[in-house]
Amino acid sequence: MPDFRSDTVTQPTPAMREAMMAAPLGDDVLGDDPSVIALQQHAADLLGFEAALFAPSGTQTNLIALMGHCQRGDEAIVGQSWHTYRWEAGGMAVLGSIQPQPVEVQPDGTLRLADIAGAIKPDDAHFARTRLVVLENTTGGQVLPLDYMAAVAALARGRGLGMHLDGARLFNAATALAAAQGTDVYTAARAVCSHFDSVSLCLSKGLGAPVGSLLLGSADFIRQARRTRKILGGGMRQAGLLAAAGQYALVHQVRRLADDHARLDRLARGLQRLAQSHAVLGGRLTVLPWQTNILFTDVAADVAPTLLAWLAAHDVRVTSGLYAGATRLRWVTHLDVGDADVDAALDAVSRFDVPPTQG
Ligand SMILES: *Cc1c(COP(=O)(O)O)cnc(C)c1O
Repeated sequence: MPDFRSDTVTQPTPAMREAMMAAPLGDDVLGDDPSVIALQQHAADLLGFEAALFAPSGTQTNLIALMGHCQRGDEAIVGQSWHTYRWEAGGMAVLGSIQPQPVEVQPDGTLRLADIAGAIKPDDAHFARTRLVVLENTTGGQVLPLDYMAAVAALARGRGLGMHLDGARLFNAATALAAAQGTDVYTAARAVCSHFDSVSLCLSKGLGAPVGSLLLGSADFIRQARRTRKILGGGMRQAGLLAAAGQYALVHQVRRLADDHARLDRLARGLQRLAQSHAVLGGRLTVLPWQTNILFTDVAADVAPTLLAWLAAHDVRVTSGLYAGATRLRWVTHLDVGDADVDAALDAVSRFDVPPTQG
């Protein structure tokens, strides 16, 4: 059944399961799990950092990073829609005593440099101490350009601020940047990382591992991060079983992200054709711009409930939410969405024949 809900639904492949079962294990809280150590070293070398830390989730690696950059009463500049601000249950405030300073996100996924600069507080007893700028790449499937990240980093460094990247989908961003520039995906990932003091990335999304995220940074930063992870209850024992899956993903399942992007492109173009020509959906379906493995489509209110029910009845799984009077559907391609799933989804939408409701 085509499951476009999220790239988190991916199942470990047979080869990944074999790597997991073969992994030598220790006790990572005691610091001697060889598979965790190997993953952390591999990731740090791969992305140009001194050290890395394996943790249960991206929510946790982001929080660990925020607590590393900011002390009680410090402030982090974030985007209104950033995961770190909107989708992590207020963790930085709840557990870090960190004040988030949200900034409007532009339609292309960037924060304006002037908005960032305007949000930085002077050294004055009235204000929280601004310490950090957080970017997210990809964000809603959109890729932040390298020269934009360089410009934000220059601004931040000039004002003495740290830079953290929520790179949950770092390799999707790198895949798109590499395609645009004719470089290698790992080279592009390193180029992204070069602008940040710390980077969080998810192994459990498009990369296809069952569990886990990585935090990357300097040796000192990661030493402190290890303590914070313990405070947050993220110390895991025979975690090598999971780390081996992550290591397998970093080696074998990065280059295939380009396939996910190609499949999403085909899905989007097919939906765009239906948005113009379909008897019921024509003029009622809007396909938003897409770049990587995430697509949003807006559906008019008078057909949205029946279209959602239709998709569910045809075993096409998507997520949906309300945005400014329309229903916004999210379609995500990943390891477990094949060409046949894209065909099945387009076929189901094309056969939709329920008339709009009145009023
Ligand atoms: C998924 C995601 C995370 C982390 O999510 P977890 O489910 O906690 O691993 C962080 N940031 C972004 C942008 C994400 O999409």
